[in-house]
Amino acid sequence: MNHRCPYEKKCGGCQFIHIPYKEQLQIKQENTEKLLNQFGKVLPVIGMNDPWHYRNKVHGVVAGDRRGNCFTGIYENNSHRAIRVDSCLIENEQADAIMNTITRLMKSFKMKPYNEDTGYGFLRHILVRTGYHTGQIMVVLVTASPVFPSKNNFVKALRKEHPEITTIVANVNHRNTSMILGEKQQVLYGKGFIEDVLCGKTFRISPKSFYQINPVQTEILYNTAMDFACLTGKERIIDAYSGIGTIGMVASDHAGEVISVELNKEAVRDAIANAKRNNIKNIRFFNDDAGIFMEKMAERKEKADVVFMDPPRSGSDRKFLNSLLRLRPERIVYISCNPETLARDLNYLEGNGYHTRKIQPVDMFPFTVHIESVVLLSQH
Ligand code: SAH
Repeated sequence: MNHRCPYEKKCGGCQFIHIPYKEQLQIKQENTEKLLNQFGKVLPVIGMNDPWHYRNKVHGVVAGDRRGNCFTGIYENNSHRAIRVDSCLIENEQADAIMNTITRLMKSFKMKPYNEDTGYGFLRHILVRTGYHTGQIMVVLVTASPVFPSKNNFVKALRKEHPEITTIVANVNHRNTSMILGEKQQVLYGKGFIEDVLCGKTFRISPKSFYQINPVQTEILYNTAMDFACLTGKERIIDAYSGIGTIGMVASDHAGEVISVELNKEAVRDAIANAKRNNIKNIRFFNDDAGIFMEKMAERKEKADVVFMDPPRSGSDRKFLNSLLRLRPERIVYISCNPETLARDLNYLEGNGYHTRKIQPVDMFPFTVHIESVVLLSQH
């Protein structure tokens, strides 16, 4: 198949767009080996059978041209100039179609795109999240002001063209920051969240909660993490940087007790609802900074047998790693979307009595340079 992206130069999001998929995997393998071979053998990267349109979360910045046509797009190479993007080779296609409908509707509703320089206009961003297994779709309309003119009619018109949308949320962001979503939000239609199924469990996902963007590879990632953890049903587990609680809940069937910690309040709320929804009783959630939480656990001389950790790109901090060393779990399963910070953190753990046992890269982000890895460490 010949796929061409008309936006590649201005976007820059897919650094590997010209490279055949097999070769992309080879490059990622080599890059991971360069950074992680010092700790052990890097297993062959697990790629996708169909690497297109995998992104379940699609974001568009709303802008307009001189003739008053609205469109969604991206900031050109991280500048503040929006360029029009009607479809994308890695995004969910239904999400792209919904965004195009919204910008078309804007014209008939005389709804203006927000202009960051003048502060004039209304609609700033559109976010569409889709549930891969459930087909549920959430549309988040990010506006500059809390008053949504003719909101009922707008919602009606949008639902008429896309009956597959299951929930619509208006989010207000009046600040000029790089954050897409603001504090305040209002559900315009549906439940205000979508659900998806992962490893046999159902998870609800709210607008601000983190959820892995490649649902097919996420199951592979989690299954690898479970394999590495070698759970027998008795262990006390920590799921750090837990998001909506996915890893801890998938592990809960094979563990004695799960303790999850996550910084984002909305994600923790989702996690608590998710445990109830899946009837999981041996899990607890804490809304805290993972490092501070681990420090408190270490001070109380608590124990953990296995720690799953899945930090953001910046990796973990010393507070977290030092407390981890004090807790001394038998096994650590480190899931990372950045092999550089992973190497830094592995180096620290290796210097303090842990050994890297397995390294498995998983391609969660085809056509980009990014690569996810699962690493097993143990003391013995
Ligand atoms: N394990 C989850 C989420 C991983 S993403 C999953 O697989 O879906 C990383 C998560 O870490 C995000 O939910 C983010 O909100 C959270 N996070 C970022 N910094 C944190 C910190 N200092 N302490 C705890 N959680 C943090």
